[in-house]
Amino acid sequence: MAKIKKKRTALGLTFLTILVWVGCSKLVLDKESKKKTQSVQSSSTENKVKTVADSFEEKEKNMGATYVEKNERREKVTEFCKKIEKRFTKYGWGKSKCMNYPWNFVRTSVKGDPLIWMTFGNETEKRKETTLILCGVHGDEITPIKFCFDILDHMNSVAAGTEKNHEKDDLKDRLVLIAPIVNPDSFFKKWPTRTNANGIDVNRNFPTRDFNSQAMKLWKGRYKKDKRRYPGKVAMSEPETLFQVNLLKRYNPDKIISVHAPLTMLDYDGPADRHAGGVVGSSANQLLMQMSEQAKGYKIKNYPFFPGSLGNYAGNERNIPTYTLELPSSDNRKSKKYWRLFKDAIHSAIMHKMDKEMEVARDERAPSDSSKQN
Ligand SMILES: [Zn+2]
Repeated sequence: MAKIKKKRTALGLTFLTILVWVGCSKLVLDKESKKKTQSVQSSSTENKVKTVADSFEEKEKNMGATYVEKNERREKVTEFCKKIEKRFTKYGWGKSKCMNYPWNFVRTSVKGDPLIWMTFGNETEKRKETTLILCGVHGDEITPIKFCFDILDHMNSVAAGTEKNHEKDDLKDRLVLIAPIVNPDSFFKKWPTRTNANGIDVNRNFPTRDFNSQAMKLWKGRYKKDKRRYPGKVAMSEPETLFQVNLLKRYNPDKIISVHAPLTMLDYDGPADRHAGGVVGSSANQLLMQMSEQAKGYKIKNYPFFPGSLGNYAGNERNIPTYTLELPSSDNRKSKKYWRLFKDAIHSAIMHKMDKEMEVARDERAPSDSSKQN
C-alpha cells in the first residue's frame, strides 16, 4: 500500500514537472516571438528612414581598416578643425569657419585624420547636376586648400540666400560636394609634402586600366624614381585614394573640379576634349572656355594624364568631365587674389549643366532618322 502511494506521488510529481516545464517553455517561446515581431517592426522603420548614403556606408565598412563608427566622428572632426584653425592663423587666412559645417566623413588618412567632405543642395536622386570639388590632394600646394574653404563660404551664403547676385533656388536641383583637404597628413607636416604619409602620390594611385603595366615603368623611366611622383606598388593602396574613388561611386558626379598649384593653367580631361563629338563633350568644352574667360583669359592647356591619375580614372576612363585648375602659386599671401580671380568661374561651373538629357534625346532620335534613310 505504502509502495503504491509512493508510486502515485512520484507519478503526480512527474506530471506536475511536465506541466511546469511546458508552461515555462511556452512563456519563453512567447517572449521570443514577441522579440522577433519587435525586431521586425524596428527594422522596417529603420528601412524607411535609410538613405542611399547609409546603404553605401554599410558597404564601405568592409572596404578598409580606417572606417570610423558614427559615434566617434564628432570628436575627431572637432580636433581636426582645431588643427585647421591653427594653420589658418599661421598662414594669415583669418577664420576657417570649419566648426560651423556639418562635415561628412567615414574614413581616415594614414595617420588618422578624418577625410572630410561637405554637401550643399539637393541630395535626392532627383537632382540634375552634381559637381565634385577636390582640394589639397597634394599637401604642399596650400593655396588650393584655402580656395576650397572660400568655395565653402560662398556656397554657404548661396544656400542661405544671402549671396549677392545668386538665388537660393540655384541649388534646388543641384548638388555640390566639397572635399577641402584630401591629403591632410602631407598638409599638416611641419614642412608640407606632395606625397602622403606612406610617401605615395595619391594622384598617381587611382586604379586606372594602365596602372599595372605602366605606373611603375613610367616612374622608374621617365620620372627617374622621383619620390614626389611615386605611385605605390598597388593601385588604390592608400585611404586618400579610396576616399576619392568612393566619393565618385557614392555620388556619381556630372563633373569634377580638382584644384592644384602652381602650374598656372586650366586643364580638361573627359569626353570630346577637342575632336570627339557628343553633347556632353561640347557642353564640357563650352564650360572650359567660359571658365577661362571669366578668369581674365586664364591659360587653357591640354596637359597629359598619367597612369593612376584622377584625369585618367574619371575623365578618360569614366567620361566624367574633369577640370584641373592649377593656381599660379602656393604662396599663402596670394589666396585672396586667387579667390577674387576665380570666384565667378567656379560659380558658373557649379551652375553649368552638362545636358545629359539632350544626349539621351539625340540617341533616341538616331534610329528613326536612319530608318528614314533606309
Ligand atoms: Zn598638385
